Amino acid sequence: MAFNPIDWLLGLFSLDISIDLGTANTLVNVRGKGIVINEPSWVTIDKRTRQPLAIGQEAKEMVGRTPRDVVVVRPLRDGVIAEFDVTQIMLEYFIGRVHEQSVVPLPRPRVVVGIPAGVTEVEKRAVYDATMAAGARQAFLIEEPIAAALGAGLPIGEVRGSMVVDIGGGTTEVAVLSMSGVVASRSLRVAGDEMDQDIIHYLRNKYNLLVGQGMAERIKWEIGSAYPLPTEKTMEVPGRNLVTGLPETIEVSSVEIREALAGSVQVIVDTVRDALDEMPPEIIADLMDIGICLAGGGALLQGLPDRLADELNLRVWLAEDAMTCVVRGAAMIFEDFDNLSHYLVGLERGGGRRRG
Ligand code: ADP
Ligand code: MG
Repeated sequence: MAFNPIDWLLGLFSLDISIDLGTANTLVNVRGKGIVINEPSWVTIDKRTRQPLAIGQEAKEMVGRTPRDVVVVRPLRDGVIAEFDVTQIMLEYFIGRVHEQSVVPLPRPRVVVGIPAGVTEVEKRAVYDATMAAGARQAFLIEEPIAAALGAGLPIGEVRGSMVVDIGGGTTEVAVLSMSGVVASRSLRVAGDEMDQDIIHYLRNKYNLLVGQGMAERIKWEIGSAYPLPTEKTMEVPGRNLVTGLPETIEVSSVEIREALAGSVQVIVDTVRDALDEMPPEIIADLMDIGICLAGGGALLQGLPDRLADELNLRVWLAEDAMTCVVRGAAMIFEDFDNLSHYLVGLERGGGRRRG
């Protein structure tokens, strides 16, 4: 790339921002400051005017509590942009908020955004366009497993296989990495959200109790598990009895919730096992040494590393600060742009532009 003095000058004064645009949560890191935003990827919209009423945490709290003309939406589905305009609004808001924190007006930022491995050219282009439309001066893309691996400190630049299993809200992404690239990847639409649904179904079938998604998620956080707990727990769960129609509180145990989650957990285990089945023995040998790294919020389900280790006969470990791995890994690109920019994903020229 030719040296461009204007770019160089802008670069001195502008922010370098990395973004993990997740189905469930969006995280924003600013170089030199760290993670400044960590909020749910939800936007509340007035259906009549199409104007956003709330974004992030505030919007998530409105789920299930909105009047008729108001909807709360998640602009990303299965890791990719489902609603372009809403994604752009959300990005604009988060990028804008980071800018507001500065006392002097700054040139527009450079932004690196994570995308799932194996997405289509059109999906990549959509993230790129939304980021540019949201006010970036330059936008770069990085595959999330690469970012997660960098954030988790895996030796992905070496001639050595490693595996990252990123369990998010909408999808579980399994990727094998070596020599700075993705060797193989799989994406599965069973992750944190599906577990919430499992809990809702279980309580409805067993107790005729209806609970909302927010409550189901809390149950999962507090007493959900994938492996027997050292001491099993119980929790009081308020909901509505579907037979009487009246409010009711029941006591649920971690053993029951484990049963509720068993199907989804098994699907995740099986997907990782299938991915391993296809690996050459050299990579398996490497994995026996390094183990399998878990990242993403869904990986925080209690006992999940133990369960996977048990079934796969490999060491399985949770990345430190698993929910921030992707954004921290993406942020590392700006720390040493010349040497790490080869981790970024290129866009094909002229690939279908989307309206912005
Ligand atoms: P995404 O990348 O799709 O935005 P995240 O990596 O932020 O997703 O993970 C979000 C998911 O992690 C949600 O389903 C959330 O309920 C789940 N999660 C967060 N903390 C925990 C926990 N302690 N136990 C189980 N699941 C958790
Ligand atoms: Mg994620």
